[in-house]
Amino acid sequence: MIDKKRFILPENEIPTQWYNIQADMVNKPQPMLNPGTHQPLKAEDLFPIFAEECARQELNQTDPWIDIPEEVRDQYKFYRSTPLVRATELEKALDTPAHIYFKNESVSPVGSHKLNSALAQAFYCKKQGVTNVTTETGAGQWGTALSYACRQFGLELAVYMVKISYQQKPYRRSMMQTYGAQVTASPSMSTRAGKDILTVDPQCSGSLGCAISEAIELAVNTPNCKYALGSVLNHVSLHQTVIGLEAEKQMEMAGEYPDKIIACFGGGSNFSGIAYPFMRHKILDGYNTQFIAAEPASCPKLTRGKFEYDFGDETGYTPLIPMFTLGHKFQPANIHAGGLRYHGAGAIISQLLKDGYMSAVDIQQTESFRAGVLFARTEGIVPAPESCHAIAATINEALRCKEEGKKEVLLFNLSGHGLIDMLAYDRFFANDLIDYSPSDEDINKFLKDVEPLQAK
Ligand SMILES: *Cc1c(COP(=O)(O)O)cnc(C)c1O
Repeated sequence: MIDKKRFILPENEIPTQWYNIQADMVNKPQPMLNPGTHQPLKAEDLFPIFAEECARQELNQTDPWIDIPEEVRDQYKFYRSTPLVRATELEKALDTPAHIYFKNESVSPVGSHKLNSALAQAFYCKKQGVTNVTTETGAGQWGTALSYACRQFGLELAVYMVKISYQQKPYRRSMMQTYGAQVTASPSMSTRAGKDILTVDPQCSGSLGCAISEAIELAVNTPNCKYALGSVLNHVSLHQTVIGLEAEKQMEMAGEYPDKIIACFGGGSNFSGIAYPFMRHKILDGYNTQFIAAEPASCPKLTRGKFEYDFGDETGYTPLIPMFTLGHKFQPANIHAGGLRYHGAGAIISQLLKDGYMSAVDIQQTESFRAGVLFARTEGIVPAPESCHAIAATINEALRCKEEGKKEVLLFNLSGHGLIDMLAYDRFFANDLIDYSPSDEDINKFLKDVEPLQAK
């Protein structure tokens, strides 16, 4: 008999504040730089692009706790708290002494964790009187989340969707349109950034870096319009900490504390979300919890990238961010985990990785789908291709526990479900997916353009 399978927080225990790890970090992230002057960035420099409150949160290195606005908390009640689940059947299938828990962010109305930040960003835009929002989306998860959030707060949204996903994931496009957003395949001919790329490479299947350039360009050229980003930046990670703050209370209900916390890694938002509230105790109280980011082998910025100043987008419209990067012109292979096809990691994560607070592993796509299928056949949920990377890394840990005869408590974040990604599963079952790692030469080609890591 199962002791207890799911741990749910009552509505009145949903967190009322987000956790800002910047305030507690021993080595603060190095400053982002204004791309024009190379001077440390001020919040005002970001006002033309982002909602002002998001810009202030981005650079806030002093307040560890930031109130979640009541309007956002009301929206969180539509789907939060999300369940913490003991993966009992996966444990049995692996015959491991490890206890495996997962935080199920796939229960949000749009199917992923992305809504946690979309609602906050849309609210802050609305609050300052913005009417129009632009964004990019890879697999379509962020675009879908922001479409929903903009609908809730009465904002118009234009989405640039990476072309390969636009073609492979038509139902995410339908979802965005259902919520009322306008969706354009990127690169497009509607922006200078898109035109520049298409004239060099008409067959370009797009990248997040390029779609971001297009969305920023539209935002700065449209009155009363702001841009919203779904990952990478500090304020996005901040909003996602609601995941880990809930999980902390739920692990307490389960009577256990995680030894290892694992999440997949695109730009770092779901990893940050589940990790930072626990990492707080590693920084402040000396806990030795380990944190593992699982990235795709085809886009290995954490395991093979360089820590340098780089742009967040392909054209170079964003501030220079101190990040582990493959170079902002790196073109990731067309793997099915579209949400992980991004060249860099956020400033906070990059500093934490450099300082040894966390580690990273890379996972090949067929290994990730094997893990996802085992998870579906044991725990019943078909995971998003992105989340499959976290599951694969967790399974590797659980098998190591078995080998060493160790009982560890593992916690991973199930960032989303894969019900709109079944084409990817079809390809996997047809043995149609290839594993791929870029050569050192491929990686160095794009790292050449990256700035040395120093403020000028
Ligand atoms: C976007 C996405 C990711 C990757 O983004 P992070 O910012 O690294 O979390 C992972 N899982 C799902 C389901 C996503 O939609």
